Amino acid sequence: MKITKLNLYIVPPRWLFLEVETDEGICGWGEPVIEGRADVVKAAVEDFSRYLIGKDPSKIEDLWQTMYRTGFYRGGPEVMSAIAGIDQALWDIKGKNLGVPVYELLGGLCRDKLRVYSWVGGDRPDDLEKGVRALWDSGCTAVKMNATEEMHYIDSFEKVEAVCKRVEAIRNTMGSKMDIAVDFHGRVHKSMAKVLAHELEPYHLMFIEEPVLPQNNEALREIANHTSTPIATGERMFSRWDFKNLFEDGYADIIQPDLSHAGGISEVKKIASMAEAYDMSVAPHCPLGPIALAACVQLDACTPNVCIQEQSLGIHYNKGADLLDYLKDPEVFKFKDGYISIPASPGLGIEVNKEKVLEAAEIGHRWKNPIWRNYDGTVAEW
Ligand SMILES: [Mg+2]
Repeated sequence: MKITKLNLYIVPPRWLFLEVETDEGICGWGEPVIEGRADVVKAAVEDFSRYLIGKDPSKIEDLWQTMYRTGFYRGGPEVMSAIAGIDQALWDIKGKNLGVPVYELLGGLCRDKLRVYSWVGGDRPDDLEKGVRALWDSGCTAVKMNATEEMHYIDSFEKVEAVCKRVEAIRNTMGSKMDIAVDFHGRVHKSMAKVLAHELEPYHLMFIEEPVLPQNNEALREIANHTSTPIATGERMFSRWDFKNLFEDGYADIIQPDLSHAGGISEVKKIASMAEAYDMSVAPHCPLGPIALAACVQLDACTPNVCIQEQSLGIHYNKGADLLDYLKDPEVFKFKDGYISIPASPGLGIEVNKEKVLEAAEIGHRWKNPIWRNYDGTVAEW
């Protein structure tokens, strides 16, 4: 079998889909995207396509090594996302060619079902109680919310209290039956992150996420001294080499590699195995589209230290299209009592509705994250 063509589709709300064609009629799908830089990742995939066309798609490891290592310069979000989407599509082709789901090729099932969580509230979280109750009624048992809006290096305790009040509102509504995670989103600098982590301690959160930016991961040591809440991070780390110091330092509890950013199924499977050796759990990052989620589900199905999976249904970013819109059978991601079942069909286990993709690609998108500033006009993290 040979790769003959790579088709790229920029589709709403903020995604990039890749279809890899072969000379035997089998096509594989991937989702190579960095949120806000879809055009840049598209160019990187096109650059790789010059090498890939004519190659045997079954040699996934060799193609991965070639893409990652032979460009002299390596890593970074855009290039690793391009490799990630290509890797997903290659696994989809291999699974379809052999007539088995991808997880069968990576060791087979090691769980019966997969726990998922949903987002509640937007970038500027309010109306949380109503949202959480609706999610519970729809079969969701775990939620994640953003912690704060802009937070300066040293900021007022009023903002910290506001976060606590929102978490308390969910606890008051749902008790302990709903698990809650709070995403600091790298918005908080270490001085306020330790205050916030300490003040959130009484709410028994499932985890706090990105308490600081990954570039400041050495601060996790200090933050871990102020809380017993599990610390999650890793959505902005892109390879085994990015993760290795985090493992050695030992202050994270849950790693969150993104299967559309961190080199795809091949690389995240290896990262997850490294995490297992450091007694760390995995909760793959996925505020993305259906192909990215399908890739996550395949990995989760055969990876024992995965604790929960993020998914984007109804997330505040999904304006103009949502998770299930590009699938022929949206039932595949339906969850019950907090769990989705593992799909049994070959490859990534989904059927992409190509007509819908072509239609949506006519519209495309220009999604960029907002630019935030602090009260004094300085640039803030988003
Ligand atoms: Mg996050």
